[in-house]
Amino acid sequence: MTSVNIKLGSIGTYWTTACKQAVSDLNSLFRRKGIEVALAVDGAGPTISVRTDAAIAGTAVHGRTSAETDGAGKLLRADVRLPVKLTINTPKGIRDAGTGMAEVIAAHEFVHALGHEPHNSHLMTQTFNKVMGDRAADDKLQAGAVAMPPLQLSDESVDMLKGIWS
Ligand SMILES: [Zn+2]
Repeated sequence: MTSVNIKLGSIGTYWTTACKQAVSDLNSLFRRKGIEVALAVDGAGPTISVRTDAAIAGTAVHGRTSAETDGAGKLLRADVRLPVKLTINTPKGIRDAGTGMAEVIAAHEFVHALGHEPHNSHLMTQTFNKVMGDRAADDKLQAGAVAMPPLQLSDESVDMLKGIWS
């Protein structure tokens, strides 16, 4: 089992909550699927640094990740950038998106940082659609027929991660 450190910059309570939820839910997903990597905020191991970037639009449903890996595809260090503010269009106008939606975006970028490059399905889709909840807490991101949270990895993604982290 390899430990990977998540270092949260000054990203505010909204993103801090979302990133911690992503760490917790990814870890249980990895455990369940036999992927031998564990994330920890302020933990040990190679570091994924997380910060917000005003150059990424709040209407976007993605961040930006650059990762440096060794010859075997294992993480050396990575840099994850997230939109400062995440918004959703509703019949009553634009409001802040719920942290569940933010969790999905953070988790997507963390999985990229762990060496998963392609966009194939579920959490690692190319295109998410925003699905407005009755309350912000129920906002979701939809990939094909799958609405998250809860986070889901496709079998292809699980196999790819197992190939790197075994
Ligand atoms: Zn992506």
